[in-house]
Amino acid sequence: MDFKGALGAASTRVVWSVAEGSVSAFRWVKVFETVAHKNRLSRNGLKAGDRAPVASLRLRCGCDNPRCARHVAARWFGLRGFSRNPDTASTHARIRPFAAMVPLGEFSSMADYVRHVSRISDGNDRREVARARKLGYATRRIGPQSHPASLDDIIRSKPVRSGGVMGKAVAAPAPARHEAAFIDQATPIPQPRCAEHWQIDFGVFRDSDPDRMMGKATLGRSGNLIEVVFFMGHGAALRDGVMKTLLFDIMEWLLESNDPLVQGADFLSYGAVEEGADGRDKWRRYLGFRPFALDAPTPRDHDWLPEDFDIAAYLTLNPDLRAARVLPISHFRLHGAFEDRKYSFQLPRPARPNDIDMAHAPAKLALAPVRKG
Ligand SMILES: [Zn+2]
Repeated sequence: MDFKGALGAASTRVVWSVAEGSVSAFRWVKVFETVAHKNRLSRNGLKAGDRAPVASLRLRCGCDNPRCARHVAARWFGLRGFSRNPDTASTHARIRPFAAMVPLGEFSSMADYVRHVSRISDGNDRREVARARKLGYATRRIGPQSHPASLDDIIRSKPVRSGGVMGKAVAAPAPARHEAAFIDQATPIPQPRCAEHWQIDFGVFRDSDPDRMMGKATLGRSGNLIEVVFFMGHGAALRDGVMKTLLFDIMEWLLESNDPLVQGADFLSYGAVEEGADGRDKWRRYLGFRPFALDAPTPRDHDWLPEDFDIAAYLTLNPDLRAARVLPISHFRLHGAFEDRKYSFQLPRPARPNDIDMAHAPAKLALAPVRKG
């Protein structure tokens, strides 16, 4: 590092020690605001000089399965922008965005969560969900890439959403809904291999039209964090409260079920507090999402490599990789681990105890029973 670089690094560290010296001790970070997101932050209860809470993330808890690296990487790449760690911080670190998260540990039960949401939204959200249930909307798990025709309709059903213009909807709006029998292609629901690293899809359906998905959510878990990766509802059903119903059902699963897939999860995150139109901000605030800075260690090679990973063996046993001149460690992390490629001249290690044994997995992973109206 040259002199200027060293000076820059040193002054960054000084800024850190002055502005956020107390982060690790008190688990708070000082708020710096810009004109652009001043109003948004104040609506979320933060103003300049305030102390914002810091969520401590562990993307690996008890699992060291290298096959889970893809999930660690996906969460890390999505969330590192919220991190205040000095090793990922630039000089702009002070004005980093805040993650919108529901701290799951604050709610002892679903009833507790519903009370909380009713307080914030004057009971509106609870009533909307009750109405949607009366209309026959209910959530169920779906397989990956399931219900492609419904999903296409959902995407094309609304030209402008809170995230911006939907190009696909503008180019080709969704056809009018036919009430005749509609069949969509459903894929099987796989059981995740690891309880703390997975990606799961949910669909919300109306009982009068059980094949037509009206809203979809994709959740991704890594360690103590569950991230909302995708969340979109059909324009024609948004006013029915389908998406709130979907979120309520997910919250019920997270708070009430003894499914091993949700044990040990501390946070549900959904984008940045600063991102999206005001409608999305309000939507999230009313459902209990709050701003958090994140404290997450940067994953290092040993977080996603097996102990006996041998670079020379990896390239020798996979001559196509040597020919393609890939970087062996990142290739293994992103692809090789999922392609069952050999990485050691030794015999493979026995399966990790953290892997869920398919034979002993719960037979059914349905959501907690849906409450009636
Ligand atoms: Zn895992």
